[in-house]
Amino acid sequence: MLRRLLKVFCLSLLMSFGTISGVSAADKTTVFVSIVPQKFFVEQIAKDLVDVQVMVEPGANPHIYEPKPAQMAAISKAKIYFAIGVTFEKAWLKKLASANPKMRIAHTDHGIQKMPMAAHHHGEGKDQKKEHHHHGILDPHVWLSPPLVMVQARNILTALQEADPAHRSAYEANHKAFITMLVELDGELRGILAGKRGLQFIVFHPAWGYFAHAYGLKQVPIEIEGKEPKPAQLKELIEHARKHQIKVVFVQPQFSTKSAEQVAKEIGGQVAFVDPLALNWAENLREVATKFKAVIK
Ligand SMILES: [Zn+2]
Repeated sequence: MLRRLLKVFCLSLLMSFGTISGVSAADKTTVFVSIVPQKFFVEQIAKDLVDVQVMVEPGANPHIYEPKPAQMAAISKAKIYFAIGVTFEKAWLKKLASANPKMRIAHTDHGIQKMPMAAHHHGEGKDQKKEHHHHGILDPHVWLSPPLVMVQARNILTALQEADPAHRSAYEANHKAFITMLVELDGELRGILAGKRGLQFIVFHPAWGYFAHAYGLKQVPIEIEGKEPKPAQLKELIEHARKHQIKVVFVQPQFSTKSAEQVAKEIGGQVAFVDPLALNWAENLREVATKFKAVIK
C-alpha cells in the first residue's frame, strides 16, 4: 500500500514537473536577431526569459541573405526584432515589420558612429589619391568591437525592458554583469595585442575594421566594395604586402578563399581562418586576437 502510494506520488510529481516546464517553454517570448553573435548578446541580458532565433543562419552571408518561409512564419509570433544594420536588412526589415506590425524593431546599432567601409587598400606614393574613395558605404561590422557592443547592449536592454516590464530588474542585473564582462574582455584584448600597434593585416572580406580600430591595428582588404579585385588591384595589393612584409591573409568561412590563396602564394605566406560570425562571441574574439598576435609582424 505504502509502495503504491509512493508510486502515485512520484508519478504525479513527474507529471507536474512536466506541465511546469511545458508551460514555461510555450510561454517564452520569441525574439529575432539578424546574425549569430547578436544571439550571444541578447542571451547575456535576457538569459532564459526569451527564445532567440537567428535570421541569417550559420554559414550564410549577412550581406545578401533572404529569409526562408518558415522564418517569416516565426516572425509573426516574435515580440522584438533586434536589427544591427547588416546589408540584408535594407531589403528585408520593412517586409519583416509588415509581416508582424505588433513586433518591436530595436535598432541595436543606434548611437554608433559608423566608419566608411574599407574600400581600397592603401597604396603608397603615386597611388595615394586612391586611398580615400569609400563611396559612402558605411561599415556594418559593429559587433566585432567590445566597446561598440557596450552601446548595443544598452539598446538591447532598453528594448527588452519596454517589451517585458515585468522582468525589468532581471534584465538590468544581467546587463550589468554583461558590461563587466565586456570591460574585462576589452582589457584582455588590449593586453594580447599591446605590442602590435600600427601593424597591418590582410583580410579577404573587411569585417575587422572596428576590431582593428579598437586595438590599434590596420586592416588591408582584398575585396573591393564587395567584389573580387581586378588583376591590376590584386597586383598592387601583392606589392603592398611584400613591401610591408605581410605574411598572412585572413579569410572567413562564409566567403570564397580563392583570391586570398592567390595573394598568400604570391607573398610566400599563408591563409588563416578567422570567423566574424561565431556564436561563442567572447571566446572567439580572444582566439582571433591570439591568432593576430601570432602572425602580425
Ligand atoms: Zn561582412
